[in-house]
Amino acid sequence: MATINTSLERLITNLSKLPTIGRKTALRLAAFLIKENNEFAKELADSIIAIKEKILLCKKCGNYSETELCNICSAENRDSAIICVVEEPFDILNIEKTGQFNGLYHTLSGVISIQKGVMPEDLKIEKLLERIKTENIKEIIIALNPTQEGETTALYLKQKILETAAKNIKITRLATGLPLGSIIEYTDKDTLSGALANRIDY
Ligand SMILES: [Zn+2]
Repeated sequence: MATINTSLERLITNLSKLPTIGRKTALRLAAFLIKENNEFAKELADSIIAIKEKILLCKKCGNYSETELCNICSAENRDSAIICVVEEPFDILNIEKTGQFNGLYHTLSGVISIQKGVMPEDLKIEKLLERIKTENIKEIIIALNPTQEGETTALYLKQKILETAAKNIKITRLATGLPLGSIIEYTDKDTLSGALANRIDY
């Protein structure tokens, strides 16, 4: 019995470390996994190991990728004159789901946050400015979350882009259809679609 309890406790402890999973949910998941067949458990474990072994960040835009350049950066039919700036790679997934955007992306890997000690130099802002200088970009869409930190970062970006780039670069933001504090990752497809289609000059 001791062995069973130990491996079960190990699983529950590990599951509890996942975001939004409390001990109660971890117990429920563990009970589910015990009932499932071996193939499912193996597939689940393998898929977790595979993302650790295979997923890289795209060298150009910071998107999740299994190759040096992600499938968006290496696609030939994308509009390479528009860059949509996002906080995290999962935002790209969600914007792609809207089917409204055919340009390229740039992931900042976070937002400026005095509270959390995240400074501009901790983010991929220099890399974005470098892309603007070298890639013939006509429009930058700032698609950061409408949080206080997102706003601060957007303002900082705007200033830096205007300092760096030719004055004729267009800077836009998602339309205000997104409620304050909403997270792009969890915003439904239609709302995000509208926010993108009706983007406004910034
Ligand atoms: Zn990429």
